[in-house]
Amino acid sequence: MSENTIAFDLDSVLADVIITWVDEYNKRNNTKYKKENITEWEIPNIIPITEEKCKMLFTFVWTTEEGLAGTLKKIENKGYNILLLTKRDKNTIEYVIKWLELHDIIFDGISFIHNKISKHVYPFDVLIDDYPMNLIGIKKPKKGILFSQPWNHKFNWKYRINKLSELEKII
Ligand SMILES: [Mg+2]
Repeated sequence: MSENTIAFDLDSVLADVIITWVDEYNKRNNTKYKKENITEWEIPNIIPITEEKCKMLFTFVWTTEEGLAGTLKKIENKGYNILLLTKRDKNTIEYVIKWLELHDIIFDGISFIHNKISKHVYPFDVLIDDYPMNLIGIKKPKKGILFSQPWNHKFNWKYRINKLSELEKII
């Protein structure tokens, strides 16, 4: 069994929240936005919503890739420790725990980050994240893998996946 630790971002990686977020926004505002329209990290720059309401909607909506629990199990079977690394408000922690239980997500450790320190300083060998700024500081032998989302299409990065099930080819 290897000692490698693989770290997963939660928002928009393990949980593709933006799809449900946009649906819910459309319902509430009678609009027809799609995930593909969210081409910038700061959503209030693109569609009319305050930063605070934007955050509230994220707390409200959570969804995930099909077969996620099985994918993570396979990764664990390869000998990886699974670490979840998530930056979020303290008041959302209980919802995250419920969501992890609901989807049978296995993990060896979880870190809720409340400061502005970049994720690259955390003790992992591989990080999967959709936010380019979290990958930029990663140096060999650590590896950063970008999870494709409409807001990072223009970011040039060596390792990129569209689904977590594609991870097996890279790690
Ligand atoms: Mg994210």
